[in-house]
Amino acid sequence: MYILLMGPPGAGKGTQAALLVEKFSIPHISTGDMFRAAVKEGTELGREAKKYMDAGELVPDEVTIGIVKEGLSKPNCKEGFILDGFPRTLEQAEALDKTLDDMGIKLTRVVNIFVPAEELVSRITGRRICKSCGATYHIAYNPSAQPGKCDKCNGELYQRNDDQEDTVKNRLDVYRAQTEPLIQYYKQQNVYSEIDGRQDIDKVFADVVTGIRGENS
Ligand SMILES: [Zn+2]
Repeated sequence: MYILLMGPPGAGKGTQAALLVEKFSIPHISTGDMFRAAVKEGTELGREAKKYMDAGELVPDEVTIGIVKEGLSKPNCKEGFILDGFPRTLEQAEALDKTLDDMGIKLTRVVNIFVPAEELVSRITGRRICKSCGATYHIAYNPSAQPGKCDKCNGELYQRNDDQEDTVKNRLDVYRAQTEPLIQYYKQQNVYSEIDGRQDIDKVFADVVTGIRGENS
């Protein structure tokens, strides 16, 4: 079973991926992990990618695609995978199809966890992190007992720069502009399922599983 998991930042994709790994015993492969592995193993593409990352530059598409290709051709992906963080553009989606085609496999399902932008903004901007121990809170959904103080270590809570409203809105705009064409692309291939990510975690997961089996769309 070859799953592509999509969803904007803050939609709970990581949680759902972990549940899928447990249920189907297939690996979760994120682009971030593939990059780290390639750099660590010192493959040619890994070294190439590191040059860009060290310079704070965007890694070019052909390097990213190459690293994904390397990652997917590892033995642990033979029986299936949950791919996350790739593709981000139509060009990458076409490259992924070609790679899978060469491997003789086809995406089983593309599952998109959908959450409206206003809700994502409130989820992300409400996050608070402890300066001392890194514990995470949410001012509405998971508040600390004392505002601004960590329950575990009494450390000071802060908001990451990335989680501030303007930054979040900007990230979500970029995400939407990039993924809109992908959604159309996978709809045309009849592999696309959209899940309502506003429900509680168990219900989202139940819908994700139904979506993977292609029973809704
Ligand atoms: Zn703490």
